[in-house]
Amino acid sequence: MNIAIDGPAGAGKSTIAKRVSKKLGYVYVDTGAMYRTMALYFLRNKIDGSDEAAVSASLDDVSVEIKYVDGEQKVLLNKEDVTGLIRTEEVGNMASATSKYSAVREKLLELQRDLARKMDVVMDGRDIGTTILPDAEVKIYLTASVDARGQRRYDELKARGVECDLEQIKKDIEDRDYRDMHREVSPLKQAADAYYLDSSDMDIDEVTEAIIQRIKER
Ligand code: C5P
Repeated sequence: MNIAIDGPAGAGKSTIAKRVSKKLGYVYVDTGAMYRTMALYFLRNKIDGSDEAAVSASLDDVSVEIKYVDGEQKVLLNKEDVTGLIRTEEVGNMASATSKYSAVREKLLELQRDLARKMDVVMDGRDIGTTILPDAEVKIYLTASVDARGQRRYDELKARGVECDLEQIKKDIEDRDYRDMHREVSPLKQAADAYYLDSSDMDIDEVTEAIIQRIKER
């Protein structure tokens, strides 16, 4: 059994996917972390993210692997555990800039499908229900308004003591949505058979419940 959760940045996919996978005893697969791992390689090696040929040519030197430690996903970049290094805005922006290249996406496609073949997974990303796992038993398209997503991100950063500007955060979210939705290869879009869930006015428990309910109905 595989569950695909897609949606734009900041919709709460990873929080929700983690909760749902825990409740069901499934493995949570965070595909964004894989794009971020590659992005970290490009940043470290000063590869220009806007240069498709340079990015594609470097891919033979990059290996991305996934392992699970106490149920938590770890990502390995050329055997180094980089799980703690990929959660920065810089890496996120590089991931968003380079995930549009087909060579980058192809490199991760088999890794993602292979995980879903071997285990029951809750996999989150942008193209899981449309491209990676078109036969997933349950597909969710989880979104929220730019205002709601911006506010959540702002609250999260503030709580961590990071100075930030709400309007700038919203602008970054809109830019990333635009890039993810308008790229040629595997753009973010709702699969025809996905359940649309707008979490703008819902809390984490409500969203988790709505998804669990949906899974039970299948
Ligand atoms: O979800 P997260 O913010 O970690 O993803 C980082 C970037 O990776 C996204 O902005 C998107 O461009 C890309 N991504 C993707 N396809 C996925 C998961 C992430 O293109 N399945």
